[in-house]
Amino acid sequence: MILLDGKSLSKKIKTDIKNQVDTFKSAGKRPPHLVAILIGDNPASQTYVSAKKKSCEEIGFNSTVIKYPESISQSKLLDEIEKINVNNEIDGLIVQLPLPPHIEPSLVIRNISYKKDVDGFHPINIGNMMLQQPCFLPATPMGIMALIENYNIETTGKSCLIIGRSNIVGSPLSILMSRNTKFANCTVTLAHSKTKDLNLLTKKADIIVMALGVPKFLTNDMIKDSSVIIDVGINRIKSNQTKSGWSLVGDVDFESVKQKCSHITPVPGGVGPMTIVSLLKNTLLSYKRVIYK
Ligand code: NAD
Repeated sequence: MILLDGKSLSKKIKTDIKNQVDTFKSAGKRPPHLVAILIGDNPASQTYVSAKKKSCEEIGFNSTVIKYPESISQSKLLDEIEKINVNNEIDGLIVQLPLPPHIEPSLVIRNISYKKDVDGFHPINIGNMMLQQPCFLPATPMGIMALIENYNIETTGKSCLIIGRSNIVGSPLSILMSRNTKFANCTVTLAHSKTKDLNLLTKKADIIVMALGVPKFLTNDMIKDSSVIIDVGINRIKSNQTKSGWSLVGDVDFESVKQKCSHITPVPGGVGPMTIVSLLKNTLLSYKRVIYK
């Protein structure tokens, strides 16, 4: 079994980005700048945003976290987003999801300039992705594609089952994995909560991507020998083996599945760090005006 080590791959990519940033700085230019908007006090959101800020600092990016109380109005939030959209010193803007119930996420995403949408959620970026045009790819699918490419995983003619059809992971990944390119040339099945006989699908799949958010859902008996397992899930479960009383697990029963599969991502240390590094890559692309002039 080969561990798809997102932690070490993301470190290598970060070193490459840092070297580029150092070169810009030596030439007297400002570094790339990522802004994250964090609303309310959701502990998971706070953890994700601080991990992104820490990664920015490691590679020499400027990073700003703007915090608003849960009570912020939708119109005030949109005004603040517009100020960032027109600020030439800022290259990327992310608004950490989920949002409070009175704020419409799709409206917020539409109001982020697509040129600074380094999460790759804006309809223009999603549309360009569909049409294979230059765009900011959604960060988690982009990170998964990088893992597959770096570990030289065969995709041509392979069957890929993706479980979970969210707009940020499963749905865009189903498009990317079915492209006529070397590392994404699969026949894709997109499964979800209404899919029947899921076990029949998991047993046939060469590559399985788990993105449903149910702890340890995929077990040894559900897969065939030598399949490739990508675990997107991040679930906090009670544990008597940690000081905090909690531990993070994926959607895969790692200990049993690792004995049967050919490749597997751990949780933590698999897809998570690749998501963050994809955000950094997109911010660098925005800074360099590579995608949109
Ligand atoms: P979501 O929570 O928006 O939707 C879950 C999807 O799973 C839905 O499409 C639903 O139909 C499907 N589903 C739920 N129960 C199912 C079942 N029993 N059988 C089949 N399908 C089922 O999805 P999301 O936002 O993509 O998040 C999924 C998981 O991935 C969560 O654990 C989340 O924390 C994690 N996540 C991780 C990263 C990362 O960087 N590693 C990024 C995004 C999300």
